[in-house]
Amino acid sequence: MKRFQLETKTLVAFMHDIRVRCPQCEQRADIVMNETLRLSCLACGLVRTYTGIGFRMGGGAFDPFFRLPLYLQTNCCGHVLWAYNRDHLAYMREYVEADIRTSDGENSSIESRLPKWMKQKHNREDVLRAIKRLEIICEKG
Ligand SMILES: [Zn+2]
Repeated sequence: MKRFQLETKTLVAFMHDIRVRCPQCEQRADIVMNETLRLSCLACGLVRTYTGIGFRMGGGAFDPFFRLPLYLQTNCCGHVLWAYNRDHLAYMREYVEADIRTSDGENSSIESRLPKWMKQKHNREDVLRAIKRLEIICEKG
């Protein structure tokens, strides 16, 4: 429970700008939070304003508002590694590249903010490769 709350809190910090797959044309669309929360797609011109209440986390690589598939997602270590945006990717890279504290780290708050499999030493190379793949997608726009 505690872990989940921490992860949610961290995700909220990256929620202001989420890249998703456009429901109309499958290209990249952005959900941006200003005065309203709006989905817009540069490729096909789709614009949608979120009229729901609150948001729903969890359930995989979907945005917490429209529940659209995230644009930045890739398979990794039998899981799906996903990110909301470039800052979120940078955050993950920073964490994974840092020395991974193996035994005693479990109590620290930073340690708890990524899923366990991403923090396991033997997954490190694969996780970094997956982050790289998503960074390349980011570069392309
Ligand atoms: Zn579109």
